[in-house]
Amino acid sequence: MLTTLKRIVQEVNRIPVLDEAIGHLVLRVKQTMQVDACSMYLADYQTQLLTLVATEGLAKSAVNRVLIGFSEGLIGLVGQREEPLNIIDAHNHPRFKYYPEVEEEHFNAFLGAPIIHQRKVLGVITLQQRDKRRFSEDEEAFLVTLAAQIALEIANAEIRGALRTPSKIGQLTSQKNLHGVAGSSGLACGTGYQPNIKIDLSRWQVKRTTDVSAAIADYRAAVDITRREVEGLSSSLEGTIPEDVRSIFQLYHQLLDANSLGREVEAKIKQQDWDAGSALKLVVESYAAQFENMEDPYMQERAIDIIDLSNRILRNIVARASGHKGPQQRRIETDSILVAEEVSAPMLAEFPRKHLVGIISIRGSNNSHTAILARAMGVPAVMGLNNVSPELLDGKPILLDGYSGEVIVNPQRHIEAEFKHLIAEEQELSKKIEQEAVKPSVTEDEHAITLLVNAGLSVELELQQEQGCGVGLYRTEIPFMLRERFPSEREQFELYRQVLHSAAEHEVTLRTLDVGGDKPLPYFPINEENPFLGWRGVRLTLDHPEIFLVQIRAMLRASAGLDNLHIMLPMITSVNEVDDALRLIDQAYHEVNEELQGPGGLLYKPKIGVMLEVPAAIYQIPQLASRVDFFSVGSNDLTQYLLAVDRNNARVANLYSSYHPAVLNALATIATQCNAHNTPVTVCGELAGEPGGAVLLVAMGYRKLSMNAHNLRKINWVIRNISVAEVEQLLPAVLACDLPADVFERVNKYLDNKQLGGLTRAGW
Ligand code: PEP
Ligand code: MG
Repeated sequence: MLTTLKRIVQEVNRIPVLDEAIGHLVLRVKQTMQVDACSMYLADYQTQLLTLVATEGLAKSAVNRVLIGFSEGLIGLVGQREEPLNIIDAHNHPRFKYYPEVEEEHFNAFLGAPIIHQRKVLGVITLQQRDKRRFSEDEEAFLVTLAAQIALEIANAEIRGALRTPSKIGQLTSQKNLHGVAGSSGLACGTGYQPNIKIDLSRWQVKRTTDVSAAIADYRAAVDITRREVEGLSSSLEGTIPEDVRSIFQLYHQLLDANSLGREVEAKIKQQDWDAGSALKLVVESYAAQFENMEDPYMQERAIDIIDLSNRILRNIVARASGHKGPQQRRIETDSILVAEEVSAPMLAEFPRKHLVGIISIRGSNNSHTAILARAMGVPAVMGLNNVSPELLDGKPILLDGYSGEVIVNPQRHIEAEFKHLIAEEQELSKKIEQEAVKPSVTEDEHAITLLVNAGLSVELELQQEQGCGVGLYRTEIPFMLRERFPSEREQFELYRQVLHSAAEHEVTLRTLDVGGDKPLPYFPINEENPFLGWRGVRLTLDHPEIFLVQIRAMLRASAGLDNLHIMLPMITSVNEVDDALRLIDQAYHEVNEELQGPGGLLYKPKIGVMLEVPAAIYQIPQLASRVDFFSVGSNDLTQYLLAVDRNNARVANLYSSYHPAVLNALATIATQCNAHNTPVTVCGELAGEPGGAVLLVAMGYRKLSMNAHNLRKINWVIRNISVAEVEQLLPAVLACDLPADVFERVNKYLDNKQLGGLTRAGW
């Protein structure tokens, strides 16, 4: 059964057009299950109707004509109950509703299963039989499994269908709203740009054209270029490879012949309005499937050759369409929204900053490191736009809402105008905040709050932006990630020296390498089933003392003549890790001290601290406090580990919230304990850089907050407009809340009363 199911799903997935795929699906299910009818209905939430979209067994004339209300008949009931319905005699069921068009008088047994994706009913699939009988448990299980498997495909197809239509800004018909996870706040309006698009048939998204003759001309021109390329290749290889291998070129020539592939591709363009690339894909993939299914291994291999040649043609089609430049070489000239499957730190570093207005990362979530980098750069970002191919957004006009996670592709003119108005308002507010940025961060009732900056992405960018401010967290792993090998001690020394110097009058906290989790090093691959619970942070560096010692030595050498170095250890779970790290730091200290100044020299002893980001550490604060000089709360990881929610997984993003009352209570406990042990504590997770978060942390007793440079001024403004006495009064009710939403409500009300509501938008 499982193999049959797999085969059906694979067959269906190969068909790029939803209507055809669904038609094939109901046919194959009817044959496999040996039933009298199989049908599918898809839901439309605007009209609240389920439409019969495909059937084998009911009247075909009813397809797309029978519309069933969400609360009508047996189909509506399956959708409403969100569970399968197995009935011996459908006509006698109290919810049965007669639709004469479908001609189902002679069917009695009925089995319906809802098609659900992310809690939303997308449609219903049904089996019907003349006999009065109950469908077996196996049949029911098969239909439910099939429905679950095709749900994702249906959701994807719906999005793709809407994005495939070519359009321009302001067109009325093709706007598509997509929902992701808010990654970095702010609004952006620009054109989608996907770097390094790999052009091949398997990734090509089929689309129709409105200009058939241009599509045919594109195809023919691309074939001509490909023929010349193949000829060139063939003659350059003459004499260097055996004759039988060269025979492949004969096959290429045959395929390029207008009477072979060309005839069918052109027919697809003329008869079905596919563009050149799509017609090529549809023809070639069906040929390749035929070859792959042949018994003869030689013929199976030929499928690869056909695909290979067609990929060449496709690239030439694309190059011709984009003015003989591959899309990779396309110049970035306008406000652009960087779109990629997974936006990486190097990708961000390479993108021309002045044209970067927004970021869309298909993978990742609100606290993945890509989102943190985007926030550090002050670029609005949306993450976790699952089920959308980045190719579909390339070149499209896009509006991006980094507060709510909404992305609007091909926006209608009035929505775009409204968006631009909001962007202008935002710029106005940040100008106002900017003007007062130099004022000290002191609350209305005279409590000084130290604001520090989180850095690492680019020293120049972050530190020049914020003169006169210490560094609460320097993520050393980012420079490691941007290289092709471990940086040498000298390279690290230069970098750290620059950082320590840029804030010489203030404390600078350099965190030891925190790779693993979602921060891979390209030259040090770690393959783990569960990377966030795996070999991460100090666990890895303690296992590699050579890496750890080089880094500590570089930090210490960089601190010579200065007295502002703080060293911080990430992912501390147990005190023995601190003891081991302290031993190594001590060893490095003595080595460097001797090297620099001879025996007895006086290199300033750095302050050593640990991050509180693993829940276990909360319960060992007294033991840890006796070993280290300071703490820093990593609320990003603490939230992920307390709530057991992967910070990088968009599917569970709605469960990840640092405003969860459990997280807030943990943070309050930490503040109380650290203050009781007289050990300085900072919060350096993202929460500290959010207006609501900063208010709550100050209320709990935190007096040092570290955040990305971009949020610093905003939080300074917040601090100057709140009073500790007031927020302390707010805190007990917040800590007693049931849900994060209740916390938002209370804190938003306070911010609104203090005229600070403009700094936040729904969801923070
Ligand atoms: C944290 O976990 O809150 C933190 C600041 O570190 P990172 O986000 O780099 O894991
Ligand atoms: Mg962390």
